[in-house]
Amino acid sequence: MKIGKDTVVGVNYELDVDGQKLDASGDTPLTYLHGHGMMIPGFESRLEGLSIGENYDFMVPAIEGYGEFNENAIAELEKEIFLIDGNMSTEVFEGAQLQLTNQDGQPMVGVVKSISDDKVTMDFNHQLAGKDLHFTGSIAEIRKATSEEIEHGHVHGPGGHQH
Ligand SMILES: [Zn+2]
Repeated sequence: MKIGKDTVVGVNYELDVDGQKLDASGDTPLTYLHGHGMMIPGFESRLEGLSIGENYDFMVPAIEGYGEFNENAIAELEKEIFLIDGNMSTEVFEGAQLQLTNQDGQPMVGVVKSISDDKVTMDFNHQLAGKDLHFTGSIAEIRKATSEEIEHGHVHGPGGHQH
C-alpha cells in the first residue's frame, strides 16, 4: 500500500529549521489521516506515494509550510488593553506568547516583541512563518482509513481519537 488520500499514516519525523532540530516524533510515530489537511500541505504532498519502511528527506519551502512572513501581522497595540486594575499584567513581557481575541471574536496567538511607554508591539505571524522546513524520517505504518474515520476527518485508535 502507498500513501494516498484516505490512508492512515504512521510517520517518524524530525523537523529541522535553520539547521536546528525543532521537533521530532520520538518513540511513537505520528499518526494522521492523509489528504484531509491535517498536516501542512508541503508535507503531505511529499509523502504521497511512499510505502512502509521508506525513508524520506525533503525541504518544504515556507510558502507550502506556515506561509511567508507578513509585516502586516506585526501590530502596535495600546498598552491600556494589557492593564489589570491599572497595572501591567505579569504575563506581558518581551518574548511572551499571548492569546488575544480579535474584533471578530477569533483567538489570535502572538509574541510580544517590545514594550514602550504606551504601546506593546506584537507579532502575530506563526513562529515558523517565512522558514523553510527540513523533514527527515521514515514511514512506519499505512492502512486504509475506515469510513468512520473519513467521515470524522481524523484517526481513531492508537495515536488518534479515543471515542
Ligand atoms: Zn472520530
